[in-house]
Amino acid sequence: MIGITILGSTGSIGVSTLDVISQHSETYSVVALTANHNVDRMYEQCLAFAPEYAVMVDADAADKLATKLTGSGYSDITVLSGIEGLEKVASLDKVEQVMAAIVGAAGLRPSLAAARSGKRVLLANKEALVLSGQIFIDEVKNHGAELLPIDSEHNAIFQCMPANYNGGLTKNGITKILLTASGGPFRTKSLNELHNVTPAQACAHPNWEMGRKISVDSATMMNKGLEVIEARWLFDASADDIQVVVHPQSVIHSMVQYNDGSVLAQLGNPDMRTPIAHAMSWPKRMASGVASLNLFEIARLDFEQPDFERFPCLRLSYEALRAGGTSTAILNAANEIAVEAFLNEKIAYTAIPEVIESTLSLVSSNEASDLECILADDAKARQVAEERVAKLSVH
Ligand code: NAD
Ligand code: MG
Repeated sequence: MIGITILGSTGSIGVSTLDVISQHSETYSVVALTANHNVDRMYEQCLAFAPEYAVMVDADAADKLATKLTGSGYSDITVLSGIEGLEKVASLDKVEQVMAAIVGAAGLRPSLAAARSGKRVLLANKEALVLSGQIFIDEVKNHGAELLPIDSEHNAIFQCMPANYNGGLTKNGITKILLTASGGPFRTKSLNELHNVTPAQACAHPNWEMGRKISVDSATMMNKGLEVIEARWLFDASADDIQVVVHPQSVIHSMVQYNDGSVLAQLGNPDMRTPIAHAMSWPKRMASGVASLNLFEIARLDFEQPDFERFPCLRLSYEALRAGGTSTAILNAANEIAVEAFLNEKIAYTAIPEVIESTLSLVSSNEASDLECILADDAKARQVAEERVAKLSVH
């Protein structure tokens, strides 16, 4: 049996991962599940998957869960809390694979713990790489861990790369990484129309069902910006090597262009169970429950240039990546604060890039030499972004 820990099991990726595992219960066993504070969903997952550990980051939520589990005769599940609990279950000896599916910078420490313990890290938590890029990649190499991308685009790129690709695009004959983007729910809206969009509209993605933060990121195309940065680290690429291609149907999940004129693409229905099953079973394949593609039904595929004016978050991401150091951590922190404020209806949708841009100009970037430096700039950026939010607040 392959033991697996799911960090963020109550979220969209966590639930899809459990769905894949339930189809292969003879091969995978759930050792630990973790969540922030959704006790009810965690309780249901504990009953269905009987893990050895359940972690609720929130201590009160952990107490509630423990009481509920003991009350129903499940006292053999150890309930832990806090970030230490997350790090512990990401590093257990009997765990071979860790699904890193916590949203935001909160996922960094436990994802790093998994890398340091030499696990196969199934990385959905793109923010971890956006924050700590080089450090994360070094920890993976130094501890003999495996890093497999879950983000559908990066999983597609991984599948289109030469086998055993270990860095160096040029020496592998690769001339471009073509990162596809659906363009989100506001792809065709004018700048004027964007002022009054609501959180519900921003979260209504045309092709994917996801958590609220990544849904807003998809609407602003910050998600694509974060993915450009993620691709930079995963595939040893530079900003210039990565071309965003708007492809509204989300059928091609990304492509790799070679110097002989070939372009390799990975296609599939937009369902995260495909990259999840791929990364869990790699280098083998296993069924994921996703129906195969019906090309006759799809009939056509469209491609457009990205619009950096209507989607300033994409421009800001490229700028932060080129600036280097802790700039991408500052970008990410400001975005997390701005998105949260938008979801709580404190600021307008169009204030999101404003908060990020002003935070980037007010917080100076430093060398990303260690985790402490990165987290210090992350904290500074959060504070400055909160101040900007207060100034731009609509209430
Ligand atoms: P989600 O909001 O649905 O779930 C987030 C999970 O993280 C939940 O289990 C929640 O309890 C946990 N969590 C939230 N805050 C936490 C904290 N402070 N500490 C510990 N745990 C916390 O999010 P999601 O859509 O599943 O996305 C998860 C990650 O995967 C994100 O980084 C996202 O960018 C990435 N991703 C998601 C999708 C998708 O289709 N949903 C696709 C590609 C990449
Ligand atoms: Mg993606």
